[in-house]
Amino acid sequence: MHLYLATNNPDKQREITRILFPYRIILPKDAGIEYHAEETGSSYLENALIKARALFSRVKSPVIADDTGLSCDFLNGAPGVFSARFAGENATYESNRKKLMELARKFPETERTAHFITVAVLYLGENEYFYFEGKVDGIILTEERGEGGFGYDPIFYYPPMKMTFAEMSEEVKNSVSHRYRAFKKLKEFLDNFYEKGNLS
Ligand code: IMP
Repeated sequence: MHLYLATNNPDKQREITRILFPYRIILPKDAGIEYHAEETGSSYLENALIKARALFSRVKSPVIADDTGLSCDFLNGAPGVFSARFAGENATYESNRKKLMELARKFPETERTAHFITVAVLYLGENEYFYFEGKVDGIILTEERGEGGFGYDPIFYYPPMKMTFAEMSEEVKNSVSHRYRAFKKLKEFLDNFYEKGNLS
């Protein structure tokens, strides 16, 4: 069975493709589609649905999409849905991390608790969809650690493994991350749904 994945982000493509194996994941670019979605929603679910609908309208076949954000307790949940643009319109992964580290330095480590949240959507038809949430708890560091991952990974410390997400191999990140937790639920649902003959 194949599913279209509504993202142009190569980092996410790699992670999600691995998590959903053996489902065949087709990327917009591989199908010759120029896909673009404005993330104007006010929740992760709204944004994931915007992405899913944008691609579904082109392929008319099952689509998966996700939206992720980092919620910091010491910033009352920010950057949240604004995680990609935290440092402004032309923000980069690096400028976003820099801004967050500057803010984090004002707080002791015990108060720098934060959570990555992913909402994964399985979009099967016009307004026929299922969604799954994954969440992981960590601590925001004031100095970067590690070379792997992407986005906020070098400053997201995961206490159970005493490492940042950027210090983990992709395989290890993919066994504990917010995205893994959301897509694992989606995969289990899909396995069940598929077995019952609801999809072909
Ligand atoms: P998106 O809207 O789901 O693409 O994610 C918004 C932003 O959250 C991205 O631009 C990244 O900065 C950040 N982000 C998403 N997923 C991850 C992750 O797995 N690790 C670190 N940062 C992430």
